[in-house]
Amino acid sequence: MAQIRIENVRKDFGAFTAVQSSSFTIEDGEFFMLLGPSGCGKTTTLRMMAGLELPTRGEIYIDGEEVGQKPASQRDIAFVFQMFALYPHMNVRGNISYPLKSQGMKSADIKNKVGEVAEILGITNILDRPVGGLSGGDRQRVALGRAIVRDPKAFFMDEPLGALDAEFREHMAEELRALHDRMGATTVYVTHDQLEAMQMGDKIVVMNHGVVEQFGVPQDIYDWPATRFVAEFIGSPPMNFLEFEGMIGTGGTEVRLNDVPMEVPQSREGANGKLTFGVRPEHVGFDDDAPYRGRVTATEYLGTTQIVTFDTPNGLLKARVPSHEVVTNGQLIGLRFDPRTITLFDKQHGKALRSQGNEGVLGHG
Ligand code: ATP
Repeated sequence: MAQIRIENVRKDFGAFTAVQSSSFTIEDGEFFMLLGPSGCGKTTTLRMMAGLELPTRGEIYIDGEEVGQKPASQRDIAFVFQMFALYPHMNVRGNISYPLKSQGMKSADIKNKVGEVAEILGITNILDRPVGGLSGGDRQRVALGRAIVRDPKAFFMDEPLGALDAEFREHMAEELRALHDRMGATTVYVTHDQLEAMQMGDKIVVMNHGVVEQFGVPQDIYDWPATRFVAEFIGSPPMNFLEFEGMIGTGGTEVRLNDVPMEVPQSREGANGKLTFGVRPEHVGFDDDAPYRGRVTATEYLGTTQIVTFDTPNGLLKARVPSHEVVTNGQLIGLRFDPRTITLFDKQHGKALRSQGNEGVLGHG
């Protein structure tokens, strides 16, 4: 078990900077997600924590000890690359016991330890089977067994479920999370899938172009995105962005969209110029009396809800509303936004214009 802290870590490959100065802390026992689009630097960050890549600058601490220049073999972590990578000529027991044999552990101790791990993973009944004929799920469990048998300080996983079809992926994600909850070992998990990150993670770091955009618990990242990139990357459909030019007025609690006053959470008072009004589709409601209106351009039926697309004076907007709301293309509808859930961004830098301390007004801090 371990706390992992990275401080101002940067990685250059020649003239190219893959990871810009990054800092965050992974607490002991956390299931921690490194999330971002392809090429954003998440694998490089993980490899630096694991000791497979040396940082160009900055420090990496495991349980308070600076390990930035130490090789992987001295960091006591287990790296789960691709769960299907097993030794084909060995049976299940051989695969799981291999790391212990390499450490020179006595065979009686190995037998006990492998038995314990097989019990945790529910694979005691297949210990003497060859790995060749195993189902995909059992192969994943054996590969996991090989990683956990050493009792490492932390587990590092790089898109471990990437190659699986959607249904099986969801099942294995649940199993991995349950295994983590039983063992309580610090786990760092790389994914580009925002849903996977939200479902599995205690905390998430969102990266883009080598930069840490935000770091926090899933709900805060969803409700209080620090940047427009995060607001767009997380959520499906993503947050709506209505562009306007104006000023955040006295008290920072009102803006005017197409001359209609809109209540907003306390934002940085006095910010002016080109601004963006961010609202999630599920926080848009219909109201015949609302002065702000949009014209319906499309509807998408999703069962209990539907996504309705509007043309508004400030750009396109999607609303997620119950399916029983009857809407027709071309209809003009009054729109209301839940004022507690709005995020304003400055258009140029895409940063949220929050006044300090107003995060968490939705009630979960
Ligand atoms: P993916 O999900 O596609 O693997 P990622 O977010 O994990 O993406 P990284 O693999 O960390 O991204 O790569 C970040 C950037 O660094 C990419 O542009 C990649 O091409 C570059 N990069 C990674 N390793 C090297 C290397 N050894 N030499 C040069 N460039 C590299």
